[in-house]
Amino acid sequence: MSDWIPVKQARMAESVGPNCEIRGWVRTRRDSKGGFSFLEINDGSSLGNVQVVAPGELSNYASEVQKLTVGCSVVVRGELQSSPAKGQATELHANEIRVLGWADPEHYPLQKKRHSFEKLREWAHLRTRTNTLGAVMRVRDQISQSIHQFFHENGFFYVNTPIITASDCEGAGEMFRVTTLDLERLAKSGGPVNFSFDFFDKPTFLTVSGQLEAETYATSLGRVYTFGPTFRAENSNTSRHLAEFWMVEPEASFFDLSDNMQLAEKFLKQVFGDVLEHCGEDMEFFDLRIEKGKIDQIRGVIDKPFQHMTYTDAIKVLETCGESFDYQIQWGSDLQAEHERFLTEKHVGGPLILTDYPSTIKPFYMRVSDDGKTVAAMDVLVPGVGEIIGGSQREERLDVLQRRMAEQSLSDDDYWWYTDLRKYGTVPHAGFGLGLERAVQYVTGMANIRDVIPFPRTPGSAEF
Ligand code: ATP
Ligand code: MN
Repeated sequence: MSDWIPVKQARMAESVGPNCEIRGWVRTRRDSKGGFSFLEINDGSSLGNVQVVAPGELSNYASEVQKLTVGCSVVVRGELQSSPAKGQATELHANEIRVLGWADPEHYPLQKKRHSFEKLREWAHLRTRTNTLGAVMRVRDQISQSIHQFFHENGFFYVNTPIITASDCEGAGEMFRVTTLDLERLAKSGGPVNFSFDFFDKPTFLTVSGQLEAETYATSLGRVYTFGPTFRAENSNTSRHLAEFWMVEPEASFFDLSDNMQLAEKFLKQVFGDVLEHCGEDMEFFDLRIEKGKIDQIRGVIDKPFQHMTYTDAIKVLETCGESFDYQIQWGSDLQAEHERFLTEKHVGGPLILTDYPSTIKPFYMRVSDDGKTVAAMDVLVPGVGEIIGGSQREERLDVLQRRMAEQSLSDDDYWWYTDLRKYGTVPHAGFGLGLERAVQYVTGMANIRDVIPFPRTPGSAEF
Protein backbone atom coordinates (compact mmCIF):
# COMPACT_ATOMS: atom_id res chain seq x y z
CA MET A 1 0.00 0.00 0.00
CA SER A 2 1.35 3.42 -0.87
CA ASP A 3 1.47 6.20 1.66
CA TRP A 4 -1.80 8.03 1.13
CA ILE A 5 -3.85 9.13 4.10
CA PRO A 6 -7.58 9.53 4.75
CA VAL A 7 -9.02 13.01 4.32
CA LYS A 8 -9.99 12.90 7.99
CA GLN A 9 -6.33 12.70 8.89
CA ALA A 10 -5.22 15.24 6.29
CA ARG A 11 -7.52 17.78 7.93
CA MET A 12 -5.55 17.63 11.18
CA ALA A 13 -2.89 20.22 11.90
CA GLU A 14 -0.47 17.46 12.98
CA SER A 15 -0.46 16.02 9.46
CA VAL A 16 1.19 19.09 7.90
CA GLY A 17 4.25 18.20 5.83
CA PRO A 18 5.61 17.55 2.32
CA ASN A 19 4.54 14.58 0.22
CA CYS A 20 0.99 14.13 1.33
CA GLU A 21 -1.37 12.08 -0.81
CA ILE A 22 -5.15 11.83 -0.59
CA ARG A 23 -7.66 9.92 -2.72
CA GLY A 24 -11.29 10.80 -3.03
CA TRP A 25 -14.12 12.46 -4.92
CA VAL A 26 -14.45 16.08 -5.95
CA ARG A 27 -17.15 17.96 -4.08
CA THR A 28 -16.56 21.40 -5.63
CA ARG A 29 -14.17 23.19 -7.96
CA ARG A 30 -13.66 26.93 -7.98
CA ASP A 31 -11.29 28.61 -10.44
CA SER A 32 -9.53 31.70 -9.18
CA LYS A 33 -8.67 34.70 -11.30
CA GLY A 34 -5.03 34.26 -10.32
CA GLY A 35 -4.71 31.22 -12.58
CA PHE A 36 -5.21 28.44 -10.05
CA SER A 37 -8.14 26.42 -8.73
CA PHE A 38 -9.57 25.27 -5.42
CA LEU A 39 -10.94 21.73 -5.11
CA GLU A 40 -12.84 20.32 -2.16
CA ILE A 41 -12.09 16.61 -1.83
CA ASN A 42 -14.01 14.12 0.29
CA ASP A 43 -13.28 10.42 0.71
CA GLY A 44 -16.02 9.49 3.18
CA SER A 45 -13.71 9.26 6.18
CA SER A 46 -15.21 12.42 7.65
CA LEU A 47 -17.89 14.99 7.01
CA GLY A 48 -15.38 17.72 6.23
CA ASN A 49 -13.35 17.98 3.05
CA VAL A 50 -9.74 18.83 2.37
CA GLN A 51 -9.22 21.92 0.31
CA VAL A 52 -6.77 21.39 -2.51
CA VAL A 53 -4.98 24.32 -4.11
CA ALA A 54 -4.26 23.37 -7.73
CA PRO A 55 -1.71 25.69 -9.37
CA GLY A 56 -1.91 26.55 -13.06
CA GLU A 57 1.55 25.06 -13.50
CA LEU A 58 0.25 21.49 -13.24
CA SER A 59 0.90 19.76 -16.56
CA ASN A 60 -2.76 18.70 -16.86
CA TYR A 61 -4.21 21.95 -15.46
CA ALA A 62 -6.05 23.08 -18.60
CA SER A 63 -6.62 19.64 -20.05
CA GLU A 64 -8.01 17.98 -16.93
CA VAL A 65 -8.05 19.94 -13.65
CA GLN A 66 -10.20 22.71 -15.07
CA LYS A 67 -12.67 20.11 -16.33
CA LEU A 68 -13.16 18.43 -12.95
CA THR A 69 -16.75 18.42 -11.74
CA VAL A 70 -18.66 17.06 -8.75
CA GLY A 71 -18.22 13.32 -8.37
CA CYS A 72 -14.96 12.88 -10.28
CA SER A 73 -12.45 10.66 -8.50
CA VAL A 74 -8.89 11.88 -8.08
CA VAL A 75 -5.54 11.21 -6.48
CA VAL A 76 -3.86 14.37 -5.21
CA ARG A 77 -0.27 14.62 -4.09
CA GLY A 78 1.47 17.68 -2.73
CA GLU A 79 2.49 19.60 0.33
CA LEU A 80 0.04 19.76 3.19
CA GLN A 81 0.26 23.24 4.69
CA SER A 82 -1.52 24.86 7.58
CA SER A 83 -4.29 26.98 6.18
CA PRO A 84 -4.84 30.69 6.74
CA ALA A 85 -8.51 30.22 5.86
CA LYS A 86 -11.19 30.05 8.54
CA GLY A 87 -12.79 26.70 9.31
CA GLN A 88 -9.96 24.48 8.12
CA ALA A 89 -6.64 23.62 9.72
CA THR A 90 -4.89 22.49 6.56
CA GLU A 91 -4.86 22.76 2.79
CA LEU A 92 -3.12 20.60 0.24
CA HIS A 93 -0.95 22.40 -2.33
CA ALA A 94 -0.95 19.98 -5.23
CA ASN A 95 2.01 19.19 -7.40
CA GLU A 96 0.19 16.26 -9.01
CA ILE A 97 -3.47 15.57 -9.66
CA ARG A 98 -4.38 12.28 -11.27
CA VAL A 99 -7.94 11.75 -12.47
CA LEU A 100 -9.17 8.21 -11.84
CA GLY A 101 -12.73 8.59 -13.08
CA TRP A 102 -14.87 11.27 -14.68
CA ALA A 103 -18.49 12.00 -13.75
CA ASP A 104 -20.34 13.49 -16.69
CA PRO A 105 -22.03 16.62 -15.28
CA GLU A 106 -24.85 16.24 -17.82
CA HIS A 107 -25.93 12.99 -16.20
CA TYR A 108 -24.44 12.70 -12.71
CA PRO A 109 -27.52 12.81 -10.44
CA LEU A 110 -25.77 14.61 -7.59
CA GLN A 111 -24.55 17.44 -9.80
CA LYS A 112 -27.17 19.72 -8.26
CA LYS A 113 -26.40 20.55 -4.63
CA ARG A 114 -29.76 20.11 -2.96
CA HIS A 115 -32.11 17.19 -3.40
CA SER A 116 -34.97 16.08 -1.18
CA PHE A 117 -34.40 12.92 0.84
CA GLU A 118 -37.24 11.33 -1.16
CA LYS A 119 -35.41 12.03 -4.40
CA LEU A 120 -32.13 10.75 -2.99
CA ARG A 121 -33.75 7.39 -2.17
CA GLU A 122 -34.00 6.79 -5.92
CA TRP A 123 -30.22 6.98 -6.00
CA ALA A 124 -29.49 4.91 -2.91
CA HIS A 125 -26.33 3.71 -4.65
CA LEU A 126 -24.96 7.27 -4.74
CA ARG A 127 -26.66 9.12 -1.90
CA THR A 128 -23.99 8.28 0.68
CA ARG A 129 -21.85 10.79 -1.21
CA THR A 130 -23.98 13.57 0.24
CA ASN A 131 -23.14 15.20 3.56
CA THR A 132 -26.27 14.02 5.36
CA LEU A 133 -26.30 10.39 4.26
CA GLY A 134 -22.55 10.09 4.77
CA ALA A 135 -22.94 11.37 8.33
CA VAL A 136 -25.87 9.03 8.97
CA MET A 137 -23.89 6.00 7.88
CA ARG A 138 -20.85 6.91 10.00
CA VAL A 139 -23.12 7.31 13.04
CA ARG A 140 -24.83 4.02 12.19
CA ASP A 141 -21.43 2.33 12.16
CA GLN A 142 -20.54 3.86 15.53
CA ILE A 143 -23.81 2.66 17.06
CA SER A 144 -23.23 -0.87 15.77
CA GLN A 145 -19.69 -0.94 17.14
CA SER A 146 -20.88 0.40 20.51
CA ILE A 147 -23.60 -2.21 20.73
CA HIS A 148 -21.05 -5.00 20.40
CA GLN A 149 -18.71 -3.30 22.82
CA PHE A 150 -21.38 -2.74 25.45
CA PHE A 151 -22.52 -6.33 25.50
CA HIS A 152 -19.01 -7.70 25.33
CA GLU A 153 -18.03 -5.58 28.35
CA ASN A 154 -21.09 -6.73 30.27
CA GLY A 155 -20.51 -10.45 29.83
CA PHE A 156 -22.95 -11.10 26.97
CA PHE A 157 -21.93 -13.56 24.27
CA TYR A 158 -22.76 -12.75 20.65
CA VAL A 159 -24.81 -15.54 19.08
CA ASN A 160 -26.03 -15.81 15.50
CA THR A 161 -29.61 -17.00 15.37
CA PRO A 162 -31.12 -18.34 12.15
CA ILE A 163 -32.57 -16.12 9.45
CA ILE A 164 -34.77 -18.90 8.09
CA THR A 165 -37.18 -20.18 10.69
CA ALA A 166 -40.23 -22.34 11.12
CA SER A 167 -41.55 -20.47 14.16
CA ASP A 168 -43.49 -17.24 14.21
CA CYS A 169 -42.09 -15.44 17.23
CA GLU A 170 -44.48 -12.51 17.39
CA GLY A 171 -47.47 -14.57 16.35
CA ALA A 172 -48.56 -11.70 14.17
CA GLY A 173 -48.49 -13.60 10.88
CA GLU A 174 -46.53 -10.86 9.18
CA MET A 175 -43.81 -13.09 7.79
CA PHE A 176 -42.16 -13.53 4.42
CA ARG A 177 -42.39 -17.07 3.20
CA VAL A 178 -39.23 -18.91 2.17
CA THR A 179 -39.83 -21.57 -0.43
CA THR A 180 -38.28 -23.34 -3.40
CA LEU A 181 -41.67 -24.56 -4.63
CA ASP A 182 -42.42 -23.55 -8.20
CA LEU A 183 -45.22 -21.07 -7.62
CA GLU A 184 -46.10 -20.67 -11.29
CA ARG A 185 -46.49 -24.40 -11.78
CA LEU A 186 -48.52 -24.67 -8.59
CA ALA A 187 -50.81 -21.89 -9.72
CA LYS A 188 -51.35 -23.60 -13.08
CA SER A 189 -52.01 -27.01 -11.54
CA GLY A 190 -54.52 -25.50 -9.11
CA GLY A 191 -53.73 -28.30 -6.69
CA PRO A 192 -53.21 -28.01 -2.94
CA VAL A 193 -49.77 -26.95 -1.72
CA ASN A 194 -47.83 -29.87 -0.32
CA PHE A 195 -45.03 -28.54 1.86
CA SER A 196 -43.45 -31.97 2.12
CA PHE A 197 -42.13 -31.19 -1.37
CA ASP A 198 -40.67 -27.91 -0.18
CA PHE A 199 -36.99 -27.48 0.66
CA PHE A 200 -37.34 -27.95 4.42
CA ASP A 201 -40.30 -30.37 4.26
CA LYS A 202 -42.44 -27.77 5.99
CA PRO A 203 -43.44 -24.11 5.75
CA THR A 204 -40.58 -21.75 6.56
CA PHE A 205 -40.22 -17.99 6.83
CA LEU A 206 -37.74 -15.18 7.26
CA THR A 207 -37.34 -14.50 10.96
CA VAL A 208 -39.16 -11.63 12.67
CA SER A 209 -36.96 -11.95 15.77
CA GLY A 210 -34.12 -14.11 17.04
CA GLN A 211 -35.49 -14.09 20.56
CA LEU A 212 -36.78 -17.63 20.95
CA GLU A 213 -33.51 -19.09 19.73
CA ALA A 214 -31.58 -16.59 21.86
CA GLU A 215 -33.48 -17.87 24.89
CA THR A 216 -32.06 -21.33 24.30
CA TYR A 217 -28.57 -19.86 24.48
CA ALA A 218 -29.36 -17.64 27.47
CA THR A 219 -30.34 -20.78 29.39
CA SER A 220 -26.93 -22.28 28.73
CA LEU A 221 -24.44 -19.44 28.26
CA GLY A 222 -26.23 -17.13 30.72
CA ARG A 223 -26.10 -13.83 28.91
CA VAL A 224 -26.27 -13.57 25.15
CA TYR A 225 -27.32 -11.18 22.39
CA THR A 226 -28.19 -11.50 18.74
CA PHE A 227 -27.67 -8.71 16.25
CA GLY A 228 -28.90 -9.36 12.76
CA PRO A 229 -31.46 -8.67 10.08
CA THR A 230 -35.14 -9.25 10.78
CA PHE A 231 -38.05 -9.19 8.36
CA ARG A 232 -41.64 -8.09 8.71
CA ALA A 233 -44.17 -8.24 5.95
CA GLU A 234 -46.40 -5.71 7.67
CA ASN A 235 -47.93 -3.42 5.11
CA SER A 236 -47.21 -0.26 7.03
CA ASN A 237 -45.99 2.69 5.05
CA THR A 238 -44.79 4.74 7.98
CA SER A 239 -41.70 6.76 8.73
CA ARG A 240 -40.56 4.16 11.29
CA HIS A 241 -41.24 0.78 9.70
CA LEU A 242 -39.11 -1.19 7.28
CA ALA A 243 -39.72 -4.64 5.82
CA GLU A 244 -36.07 -5.50 6.52
CA PHE A 245 -34.34 -4.03 9.54
CA TRP A 246 -31.58 -4.84 12.00
CA MET A 247 -32.37 -5.78 15.54
CA VAL A 248 -30.20 -6.29 18.59
CA GLU A 249 -31.69 -8.66 21.13
CA PRO A 250 -30.03 -9.33 24.48
CA GLU A 251 -31.39 -12.19 26.56
CA ALA A 252 -30.22 -12.86 30.12
CA SER A 253 -30.90 -15.63 32.59
CA PHE A 254 -31.76 -14.68 36.18
CA PHE A 255 -32.92 -11.21 35.04
CA ASP A 256 -36.34 -9.94 36.05
CA LEU A 257 -38.19 -7.00 34.52
CA SER A 258 -36.43 -4.50 36.71
CA ASP A 259 -32.98 -5.85 35.77
CA ASN A 260 -34.09 -5.71 32.15
CA MET A 261 -35.12 -2.05 32.42
CA GLN A 262 -31.83 -1.16 34.06
CA LEU A 263 -29.92 -2.96 31.33
CA ALA A 264 -31.83 -1.13 28.58
CA GLU A 265 -31.21 2.25 30.17
CA LYS A 266 -27.52 1.67 30.78
CA PHE A 267 -27.17 0.30 27.26
CA LEU A 268 -28.84 3.25 25.51
CA LYS A 269 -26.89 5.76 27.58
CA GLN A 270 -23.56 4.18 26.77
CA VAL A 271 -24.35 3.94 23.04
CA PHE A 272 -25.55 7.56 22.90
CA GLY A 273 -22.50 8.70 24.85
CA ASP A 274 -20.17 6.90 22.43
CA VAL A 275 -21.80 8.67 19.49
CA LEU A 276 -21.32 12.09 21.10
CA GLU A 277 -17.73 11.21 21.92
CA HIS A 278 -16.69 9.71 18.58
CA CYS A 279 -18.95 11.37 16.01
CA GLY A 280 -18.64 14.99 17.16
CA GLU A 281 -18.42 16.54 13.73
CA ASP A 282 -21.32 14.54 12.31
CA MET A 283 -23.47 15.25 15.37
CA GLU A 284 -22.81 18.99 15.08
CA PHE A 285 -24.04 18.73 11.52
CA PHE A 286 -27.29 17.03 12.62
CA ASP A 287 -27.69 19.56 15.40
CA LEU A 288 -27.35 22.42 12.91
CA ARG A 289 -29.15 21.05 9.86
CA ILE A 290 -31.53 18.29 10.86
CA GLU A 291 -32.78 18.84 14.40
CA LYS A 292 -31.78 21.90 16.37
CA GLY A 293 -30.67 21.14 19.92
CA LYS A 294 -30.11 17.41 19.29
CA ILE A 295 -26.77 17.29 21.10
CA ASP A 296 -28.09 18.95 24.25
CA GLN A 297 -31.14 16.71 24.12
CA ILE A 298 -28.98 13.58 24.06
CA ARG A 299 -26.75 14.95 26.83
CA GLY A 300 -29.89 15.45 28.92
CA VAL A 301 -30.94 11.87 28.26
CA ILE A 302 -27.56 10.55 29.36
CA ASP A 303 -27.56 12.61 32.57
CA LYS A 304 -31.09 11.95 33.82
CA PRO A 305 -32.73 8.70 34.94
CA PHE A 306 -35.38 7.39 32.54
CA GLN A 307 -38.97 7.84 33.71
CA HIS A 308 -41.16 4.80 34.32
CA MET A 309 -44.92 4.42 34.00
CA THR A 310 -47.31 1.49 33.84
CA TYR A 311 -49.51 1.01 30.81
CA THR A 312 -52.54 1.48 33.05
CA ASP A 313 -51.30 4.87 34.24
CA ALA A 314 -50.43 5.84 30.69
CA ILE A 315 -53.99 5.12 29.58
CA LYS A 316 -55.27 7.37 32.36
CA VAL A 317 -52.96 10.16 31.17
CA LEU A 318 -54.06 9.72 27.56
CA GLU A 319 -57.74 9.66 28.46
CA THR A 320 -57.58 12.85 30.46
CA CYS A 321 -54.92 14.90 28.64
CA GLY A 322 -57.34 16.68 26.34
CA GLU A 323 -55.35 15.95 23.16
CA SER A 324 -57.30 14.84 20.15
CA PHE A 325 -55.90 11.62 18.70
CA ASP A 326 -56.76 9.90 15.42
CA TYR A 327 -57.19 6.61 17.29
CA GLN A 328 -59.39 6.32 20.38
CA ILE A 329 -57.56 4.80 23.31
CA GLN A 330 -58.91 2.70 26.17
CA TRP A 331 -57.53 0.08 28.53
CA GLY A 332 -56.82 -3.05 26.49
CA SER A 333 -55.99 -1.43 23.17
CA ASP A 334 -52.49 -1.15 21.76
CA LEU A 335 -50.84 2.24 21.80
CA GLN A 336 -50.44 3.91 18.43
CA ALA A 337 -47.39 5.97 17.49
CA GLU A 338 -49.32 9.17 18.22
CA HIS A 339 -49.99 8.03 21.80
CA GLU A 340 -46.40 6.93 22.36
CA ARG A 341 -45.11 10.21 21.03
CA PHE A 342 -47.49 12.28 23.14
CA LEU A 343 -46.33 10.47 26.28
CA THR A 344 -42.61 10.75 25.61
CA GLU A 345 -42.56 14.17 23.93
CA LYS A 346 -45.22 16.18 25.70
CA HIS A 347 -45.99 14.36 28.93
CA VAL A 348 -42.48 13.55 30.19
CA GLY A 349 -40.23 15.28 27.66
CA GLY A 350 -37.67 12.49 27.48
CA PRO A 351 -37.29 8.72 27.35
CA LEU A 352 -40.08 6.81 29.04
CA ILE A 353 -40.29 3.13 29.94
CA LEU A 354 -43.84 1.83 29.85
CA THR A 355 -44.48 -1.43 31.69
CA ASP A 356 -47.15 -3.97 32.54
CA TYR A 357 -49.22 -4.15 29.36
CA PRO A 358 -52.45 -6.15 29.07
CA SER A 359 -51.66 -9.78 28.26
CA THR A 360 -54.17 -9.74 25.41
CA ILE A 361 -52.05 -7.40 23.26
CA LYS A 362 -48.69 -9.06 23.96
CA PRO A 363 -47.10 -12.30 22.73
CA PHE A 364 -47.38 -15.64 24.52
CA TYR A 365 -43.84 -15.65 25.89
CA MET A 366 -44.23 -12.63 28.18
CA ARG A 367 -44.54 -13.44 31.88
CA VAL A 368 -48.04 -13.20 33.32
CA SER A 369 -48.19 -11.01 36.43
CA ASP A 370 -49.98 -11.84 39.67
CA ASP A 371 -53.01 -9.73 38.68
CA GLY A 372 -53.62 -12.24 35.87
CA LYS A 373 -54.39 -9.41 33.46
CA THR A 374 -51.04 -7.89 32.65
CA VAL A 375 -47.63 -9.19 31.56
CA ALA A 376 -44.13 -8.13 32.62
CA ALA A 377 -43.54 -6.19 29.40
CA MET A 378 -41.58 -3.01 28.86
CA ASP A 379 -41.37 -0.64 25.92
CA VAL A 380 -38.85 2.19 25.82
CA LEU A 381 -40.24 5.27 24.09
CA VAL A 382 -38.18 8.23 22.93
CA PRO A 383 -39.13 11.65 21.52
CA GLY A 384 -39.38 11.88 17.76
CA VAL A 385 -39.64 8.14 17.21
CA GLY A 386 -41.88 6.51 19.82
CA GLU A 387 -41.05 2.87 20.56
CA ILE A 388 -37.37 2.11 20.19
CA ILE A 389 -37.17 -0.98 22.43
CA GLY A 390 -39.69 -3.69 23.17
CA GLY A 391 -38.94 -6.30 25.80
CA SER A 392 -40.17 -8.40 28.70
CA GLN A 393 -39.49 -10.89 31.40
CA ARG A 394 -40.23 -14.28 29.84
CA GLU A 395 -42.72 -16.83 31.14
CA GLU A 396 -40.61 -19.46 32.87
CA ARG A 397 -43.51 -21.53 34.33
CA LEU A 398 -44.35 -24.43 32.04
CA ASP A 399 -48.05 -24.63 32.88
CA VAL A 400 -48.65 -20.90 32.40
CA LEU A 401 -46.66 -20.88 29.16
CA GLN A 402 -48.63 -23.81 27.77
CA ARG A 403 -51.91 -22.15 28.68
CA ARG A 404 -50.85 -18.93 26.93
CA MET A 405 -49.75 -20.87 23.86
CA ALA A 406 -53.10 -22.61 23.70
CA GLU A 407 -54.88 -19.26 24.01
CA GLN A 408 -52.96 -17.98 21.01
CA SER A 409 -53.49 -21.22 19.05
CA LEU A 410 -49.83 -22.18 19.01
CA SER A 411 -49.15 -25.87 18.90
CA ASP A 412 -46.93 -27.64 21.39
CA ASP A 413 -45.49 -29.68 18.51
CA ASP A 414 -44.01 -26.62 16.85
CA TYR A 415 -42.50 -25.22 20.02
CA TRP A 416 -41.41 -28.43 21.80
CA TRP A 417 -37.83 -27.19 21.98
CA TYR A 418 -38.99 -23.91 23.52
CA THR A 419 -41.10 -25.59 26.19
CA ASP A 420 -38.17 -27.94 26.90
CA LEU A 421 -36.35 -24.93 28.37
CA ARG A 422 -39.12 -24.78 31.01
CA LYS A 423 -39.03 -28.52 31.63
CA TYR A 424 -35.33 -28.81 32.31
CA GLY A 425 -33.82 -26.34 34.74
CA THR A 426 -36.12 -23.43 34.06
CA VAL A 427 -34.99 -20.01 35.32
CA PRO A 428 -36.40 -16.51 35.34
CA HIS A 429 -35.02 -14.63 32.39
CA ALA A 430 -35.63 -11.48 30.40
CA GLY A 431 -34.57 -9.62 27.29
CA PHE A 432 -35.47 -6.96 24.79
CA GLY A 433 -35.19 -5.96 21.15
CA LEU A 434 -33.80 -2.66 19.93
CA GLY A 435 -34.41 -1.70 16.32
CA LEU A 436 -31.05 -0.43 15.10
CA GLU A 437 -32.64 1.95 12.60
CA ARG A 438 -34.93 3.46 15.23
CA ALA A 439 -31.85 4.15 17.35
CA VAL A 440 -30.07 5.78 14.41
CA GLN A 441 -33.20 7.81 13.69
CA TYR A 442 -33.38 9.04 17.23
CA VAL A 443 -29.71 9.94 17.51
CA THR A 444 -29.49 11.76 14.17
CA GLY A 445 -32.97 13.30 14.19
CA MET A 446 -33.65 11.95 10.70
CA ALA A 447 -37.39 12.01 10.13
CA ASN A 448 -37.70 8.92 7.95
CA ILE A 449 -36.35 5.46 8.75
CA ARG A 450 -35.70 4.91 5.02
CA ASP A 451 -32.85 7.38 5.24
CA VAL A 452 -30.91 5.58 7.97
CA ILE A 453 -30.45 2.16 6.31
CA PRO A 454 -28.36 1.74 3.15
CA PHE A 455 -30.98 0.09 0.95
CA PRO A 456 -34.47 0.39 2.44
CA ARG A 457 -37.04 -2.34 1.78
CA THR A 458 -40.62 -1.16 2.08
CA PRO A 459 -43.92 -2.25 0.53
CA GLY A 460 -43.56 -2.01 -3.24
CA SER A 461 -39.90 -1.06 -3.09
CA ALA A 462 -36.84 -3.30 -3.28
CA GLU A 463 -34.59 -1.64 -5.86
CA PHE A 464 -30.82 -2.28 -5.69
P1 ATP B 1 -44.11 -1.11 16.51
O1 ATP B 1 -45.21 -1.17 17.52
O2 ATP B 1 -43.38 0.18 16.52
O3 ATP B 1 -44.52 -1.56 15.15
P2 ATP B 1 -43.33 -3.67 17.50
O4 ATP B 1 -44.03 -3.62 18.78
O5 ATP B 1 -43.88 -4.45 16.37
O6 ATP B 1 -43.03 -2.17 16.97
P3 ATP B 1 -41.23 -5.34 18.55
O7 ATP B 1 -41.81 -6.58 18.01
O8 ATP B 1 -41.33 -5.08 19.99
O9 ATP B 1 -41.81 -4.10 17.72
O10 ATP B 1 -39.71 -5.24 18.03
C1 ATP B 1 -38.67 -4.68 18.82
C2 ATP B 1 -38.11 -3.43 18.19
O11 ATP B 1 -37.82 -3.60 16.80
C3 ATP B 1 -39.06 -2.26 18.21
O12 ATP B 1 -39.00 -1.61 19.45
C4 ATP B 1 -38.50 -1.38 17.12
O13 ATP B 1 -37.38 -0.66 17.57
C5 ATP B 1 -38.01 -2.38 16.11
N1 ATP B 1 -38.97 -2.60 15.02
C6 ATP B 1 -40.10 -3.34 15.04
N2 ATP B 1 -40.71 -3.37 13.86
C7 ATP B 1 -39.94 -2.63 13.02
C8 ATP B 1 -40.01 -2.30 11.64
N3 ATP B 1 -41.00 -2.76 10.87
N4 ATP B 1 -39.04 -1.52 11.12
C9 ATP B 1 -38.02 -1.09 11.90
N5 ATP B 1 -37.88 -1.36 13.20
C10 ATP B 1 -38.83 -2.13 13.77
MN1 MN C 1 -43.15 -3.74 20.73
